Amino acid sequence: MLLALRYLCAFRTNPLTVQKVAQRLSVCGVKPLQESILMQLLPIPAFTDNYIWVLHGTQRALVVDPGEAGGVMDWLKQHGLQLDTILITHHHADHTGGAASLRETTGARVVGPTGEPMPEPLQRVDEGDTVMVLGLPFQVIKVPGHTAGHIAYYCPDVDGKPLLFCGDTLFSGGCGRLFEGTPAQMLNSLDRLSALPDATQVCCTHEYTLANLKFAQAVEPHNTELAAYMAQCQALRTQNFPTLPSSILVEKQINPFLRSRQAAVRQAATVHNPLASNDDVSVFATLRAWKNVFK
Ligand SMILES: [Zn+2]
Repeated sequence: MLLALRYLCAFRTNPLTVQKVAQRLSVCGVKPLQESILMQLLPIPAFTDNYIWVLHGTQRALVVDPGEAGGVMDWLKQHGLQLDTILITHHHADHTGGAASLRETTGARVVGPTGEPMPEPLQRVDEGDTVMVLGLPFQVIKVPGHTAGHIAYYCPDVDGKPLLFCGDTLFSGGCGRLFEGTPAQMLNSLDRLSALPDATQVCCTHEYTLANLKFAQAVEPHNTELAAYMAQCQALRTQNFPTLPSSILVEKQINPFLRSRQAAVRQAATVHNPLASNDDVSVFATLRAWKNVFK
């Protein structure tokens, strides 16, 4: 675990670059106005297949969905960073379990959705709200389906790139199970995320990509972009690298749950369940039910 963590850190961040730029700014007598000038993004692995996303500048960090505190605390200490904010997408324990401990230890602010049980005290946010974190505006998008009050956090510009923290709603090649919502709700939530800019970095909370792509290939065996992406992700996992973040462009090319209106996907759903209706929601529901039992 520690080795994997060190590996990931080396892969995703370049502390030397951060130090050099900070030194140069300091030598020139220029103080960074906001930390986003030097933002670094990386996933800290947790449990079996969770990622706790970290976004940080030279001094302060935010984390998303900390299911546990230990790995995050170790990482913050190693890098001399102060935890500023904890963003939570939904109430499941593997997304919230470390929040109270991190808040007590670091004094970080906790932000989470309205209408879901959360580790109090926290700042509740809802559709249309904007949360300022590390000088960056994160828009709250309500995406019910996996849970009733699930939210995503979207920042249109982090050092020139849009960034999305989407919890268990959108995965690379897949989507979350419908524990508390309907297929219609989840389809609408995914439609909203797929309407974000193509370049948006998609930070999901689980490393489910290879299993999702196996299902995606059963649905669309002739999708060449999907085959190329599968090979790329297999190579990454062989070296224990994360397949994430993905992008909205990639997901629109390979994710059957964002492609349920494509002719090939509709046809596969109809073949799988000939009795289902052919409307958008029914096709999506067939895909989700098929994935639930796919091995
Ligand atoms: Zn969940």
